[in-house]
Amino acid sequence: MKLATVRTRAGTSAARLDGDAYVLLDHADVGSLLASGPDWQERATAAKGPSIAATQLQVATLVPHPNKIICLGLNYATHIKEMGRDTPAHPTLFAKYDGALIGANDPVVLPYVSDRIDWEAELGVVVGRPARHVSKTRALEHVAGYTVVNDVTARDWQRRTREFLSGKTFENTTPVGPTLVTADEFGGKEPDLDLRCTVDGVEVQHSRTSDLLFGIADIVSYVSDIITLQPGDLIATGTPGGVGDGRDPKVYLRPGQELVTVIEGIGELRNTCVAEERLH
Ligand code: ZN
Repeated sequence: MKLATVRTRAGTSAARLDGDAYVLLDHADVGSLLASGPDWQERATAAKGPSIAATQLQVATLVPHPNKIICLGLNYATHIKEMGRDTPAHPTLFAKYDGALIGANDPVVLPYVSDRIDWEAELGVVVGRPARHVSKTRALEHVAGYTVVNDVTARDWQRRTREFLSGKTFENTTPVGPTLVTADEFGGKEPDLDLRCTVDGVEVQHSRTSDLLFGIADIVSYVSDIITLQPGDLIATGTPGGVGDGRDPKVYLRPGQELVTVIEGIGELRNTCVAEERLH
């Protein structure tokens, strides 16, 4: 099953994608659907709400207000090499706030305080059931499904301090969506999918999600030892090699450029980069 959060006249609605139409569900977004009880999948499958042609609707960010957004740094060997880092013994975790999140086709706002905005195509994991101290063997039972994220990053701000956060949570920079593909579609296994990123049609990243250093079960289990993962929480699993900052010469996003992030079988983020308006 594919789920999305779509924009309606009243705001937003969770929806099930049936072929080329969205069936509206009785929740404001996919995050609140997942938080509405352990039988969310049965209810979403059975729902018979109004059906609207997909071409008539825009998608909003898939999970607009997750309790937590947890991101993995340094989780593909190719990216670790290009960033000149050592292979970590433990997952490198950082966070984002929900103000950074945008929909699959919304503009990526390039902040005027940075001229080093870079792309990071990533597999997104959305939590479906609370997870606390779960083993690796049971961890995938807590995953609702998978989506596409671009962890757009201000490299200059990321490097100002040892902590990554300030470069990672600029407002309206991080597209998430367009859909959540439920975990059962992958037979309860970690998905092994083709992941690509292009800028103005030129391929800049291309990998497979199975190349993750710490896999999805590792990450869910590890984080669940720290804090309870809640339904609707979003995990960005890290990016492969090919970021603009790892190139010679270095390349960064510019206003007007089109950033496309695709994961086979899940969908595509297509975002135009725009310069932030100056408030003062
Ligand atoms: Zn990232």
